[in-house]
Parts: sequence; structure tokens; C-alpha cells
Amino acid sequence: MNNRVHQGHLARKRFGQNFLNDQYIIDSIVSAIHPQIGEAMVEIGPGLGALTEPVGERIDALTVIELDRDLAARLQTHPFLGPKLTIFQQDAMTFNFAALAEEKGQSLRVFGNLPYNISTPLMFHLFSYTNAIKDMHFMLQKEVVNRLVAGPGSKAYGRLTVMAQYYCQVIPVLEVPPESFTPAPKVDSAVVRLVPHTTLPHPVGDIRVLSRITTEAFGKRRKTLRNSLGHLFPDEVFAEFGIDTGLRAENVSVAHYCQLANWLSAHPAPQES
Ligand code: SAM
Repeated sequence: MNNRVHQGHLARKRFGQNFLNDQYIIDSIVSAIHPQIGEAMVEIGPGLGALTEPVGERIDALTVIELDRDLAARLQTHPFLGPKLTIFQQDAMTFNFAALAEEKGQSLRVFGNLPYNISTPLMFHLFSYTNAIKDMHFMLQKEVVNRLVAGPGSKAYGRLTVMAQYYCQVIPVLEVPPESFTPAPKVDSAVVRLVPHTTLPHPVGDIRVLSRITTEAFGKRRKTLRNSLGHLFPDEVFAEFGIDTGLRAENVSVAHYCQLANWLSAHPAPQES
């Protein structure tokens, strides 16, 4: 038997299709999501409906975003789900979540077993809509979940960590082995809950500045801060914030990155002003 075929559908690699086949895991994810009637639930990549069906059993209406035209068509004609679904056959990377929240008159609860090939850029796309999102539950590569939840000083702590924790509280939910999917991915997976902060703990004036300094710092993560960020910040600034310039990017807390970003916004380098 072809191990890429699930429920009569040949999994498409280019769409990152790994379908959940494990009822225990599916039930655990749906319990963690805890969908309630009246909430604006949005699923990214419903595929063959492994999560859509049990979520759809609990609520009256649900929005799904599915890039694969065949799978979107199949959901449209699904016997009990079809009438409950609003299907957007489009790329979630270009989806306007704010417009949907506006239309629904409430913030969105987003979930999905994400296509791993685009999971990191998709998270960054979603972070730009955190004002319109109540919470998110995602299946991701375990290694990505480790990066999302990491604390300073660990190897997994990086730019994704800082940006995710800037916007959200990040809570690991459960780990999922490769056999729970058809076809089985090569890596372990995990489910994570991301809850956008209602009040940002460390607000920055310009998010692009935070993005820039984390890109520069983690782009040279083996160098000391003096070497990776010294061209942007004089030693006195690091000292003022109590940051040791002999440390590396992975040792700097989210709060400190935000302080540095706000300082830089107020003191742009001469060539940028
Ligand atoms: N939810 C199903 C499950 O758990 O069995 C399928 C999960 S599969 C890992 C990822 C799903 O996302 C597939 O259905 C795939 O076609 C869809 N997909 C891939 N890229 C997408 C994109 N850019 N936008 C929306 N959906 C996408």
C-alpha cells in the first residue's frame, strides 16, 4: 500500500501534508483547544478534516483556510461539516486575519496542524495580527516548539523565541510522535498554545527595530554583544540597562531586547536619521 495515501488522498509534499491518524492525539488536541459555540474558530490547513470534524461536532460554524484546491472541494461537500464551514481556498500566508475578526465582531481562535515547510514564516505573519487573535493552538515540529518556549541561556533561544514571547504567552501542550501522522514526518512534533498578551509586558515603539536588532544579534549568535550589536549601541547603553557586553545574543532577555529597541528608536544611528 502507498504510505502517502490517506482516506483516498495522495499526500502532497509541496503542501506539507502529514495527516493526523491517531484518535487519542486528535481528542487531546481538541480538548486543549476547547471550542465553544459562538466563538470565531479558524483552522489553518484542515486537510482531510482530522481536527475539523471533532471541532465541527462541538460548534455551529467554523472558518477554514486550505490552499489545496482538491481538499477544499472535498470539505465543501462533506456530509455534516460542509454546511458549517466557510472555506477560504487560499494561502494562509496572505490571509487577512484582522479583516475576518472585524467581520466576526470578535477576536479569533486560530488552530491547525501547520504545514511544517512554512510554519516559521506563517507564525510571523500571525504575530502581525495578534490584536485580532484571542489564542492559537498549533502542531509544529517539536524543535520549533522548543524554540518558542525557550528561556535565555538555552541553545533553542533565538529570534523566533523573542518575537513570539514579545507578542504571546507560550505554553507547550503535548508531544506527538511521527507515527501519529500519515505519511509519518521525519521529525517529532508538538502542540503549543500561544495566547497574545492583552497588554504587552515590554512594549516597543517600533516593532521593526526589535526585529532588526534580533536579526543582527542572532545572525552572529556566537559573537559577544559588543561584536554583534556594538555598532548600534555604545557600551554605556548596555551598562545603563545592566547588560554585560561579553554575553552572547542567547543570554539577553526579551525585556532587555525591548529596552535596546526603544533606545535605538530614540537614538537612530547617524546614517539612518
Ligand atoms: N489538519 C489536517 C490534519 O491534521 O490531518 C492536515 C494537516 S497538514 C500537516 C497541513 C495542511 O495545510 C494540508 O491540508 C495542506 O494542504 C494545508 N496547507 C499547506 N500550505 C498551506 C497554506 N499556505 N495555506 C493554507 N493551507 C495550507
